[in-house]
Amino acid sequence: MNTAPRSKKVWDVIVIGGGPAGMMAAGRAAELGRSVLLLEKNSGLGKKLLITGGGRCNVTNAEPNLRTLVSKYKGSDQFLFSAFSQYDNNSGLAFFNTRNMPTKIENEGRVFPVSDTARSVWEVLTRYMEQGKVQVQTDAAVIELVLSFNNFAKLLNDNVSKENRIQAVRLADGSQLEAKSFVIATGGNSRPETGSTGDGFKWLKKLGHRIIPTNRALVPIALKDAWVKKLAGVTLQGIKLTTILDGEKQSVRKGKILFTHFGVTGPTVLNLSRSIGELLPYGEVVLLLDLLPQFDHGALKAKLHFLLTSESNKKIKNSLASLIPADLYRLFWRGSE
Ligand SMILES: Cc1cc2nc3c(=O)[nH]c(=O)nc-3n(C[C@H](O)[C@H](O)[C@H](O)COP(=O)(O)OP(=O)(O)OC[C@H]3O[C@@H](n4cnc5c(N)ncnc54)[C@H](O)[C@@H]3O)c2cc1C
Repeated sequence: MNTAPRSKKVWDVIVIGGGPAGMMAAGRAAELGRSVLLLEKNSGLGKKLLITGGGRCNVTNAEPNLRTLVSKYKGSDQFLFSAFSQYDNNSGLAFFNTRNMPTKIENEGRVFPVSDTARSVWEVLTRYMEQGKVQVQTDAAVIELVLSFNNFAKLLNDNVSKENRIQAVRLADGSQLEAKSFVIATGGNSRPETGSTGDGFKWLKKLGHRIIPTNRALVPIALKDAWVKKLAGVTLQGIKLTTILDGEKQSVRKGKILFTHFGVTGPTVLNLSRSIGELLPYGEVVLLLDLLPQFDHGALKAKLHFLLTSESNKKIKNSLASLIPADLYRLFWRGSE
């Protein structure tokens, strides 16, 4: 990887942030003939990218209909429709597939590299930048945007911020780098240990942009109940999850959950996490797990009665095996076989 010289050169484009967005933007600007410098504060690029999708990177979704695809991102669908109309999931897939990264489609249309490793995505993006001769400077934390003011606007005291332009960036070591255009690709603020500490939000707010507060989403849920830890590694299918606040039912999802050493995870839980995050400021959120949502109370009572009476010569554990996973049975009925 190239290391940029510290000179007074004025770049066509400086990209701040070496995540997938910054790498893609830098590669594309270089492909279009611009001189590009990418600045990354970590010692390597794409630290978060490499942990995506459990290390496999869920590249995109294969849903062919754009309206159906964006409808899944409630609240952001209009914004995404406009962006995806110019460059959609198929364009993204073609980008990777034509650069020697075959992909495969898994459940719910989720697309992964055939190699099952996020490193493949990382390699395509870094090669793309190398081909365009993007200069990459790592260990280069930008601490400030240096603005140039339009003196005329200043004299008139007329909406100065509107007339500002970014002239340079200042790095942590005090040096300044200039460019005609800047791309701020510093990411969000989840998993700050990967470098995404929300720096861009602060700069953009200072420049007068409206910043929509970020919220937790697509995260596992920590539970305070101690028994959960004993189930770490256990997966349950067809579970109904209901969130409850102040005794009131809030939202319901059905699907697979996985117990961890601190709580629960899995696609159903991740999809529910955003609404749990929104409820938490209002009080304690209870997560109700219905292991047998296919039965209502009466039907379940009848089923249990049938199993326990018709198979009365069997151990309870064996009679209930068709209803209750063995790990759960062991946890709650220890010693009652
Ligand atoms: C556990 C996990 C799993 C995920 N799985 C998936 C998945 O399977 N599929 C998917 O599409 N998305 C997934 N995501 C989301 C995905 O990681 C992000 O959407 C993506 O990384 C955003 O890319 P980005 O380039 O905008 O920002 P980031 O990847 O956050 O990159 C921003 C970069 O900017 C650098 N930076 C920040 N501030 C400065 C500064 N001041 N100076 C210089 N550099 C700076 C950071 O060090 C970082 O390298 C996952 C996220 C997490 C946390």
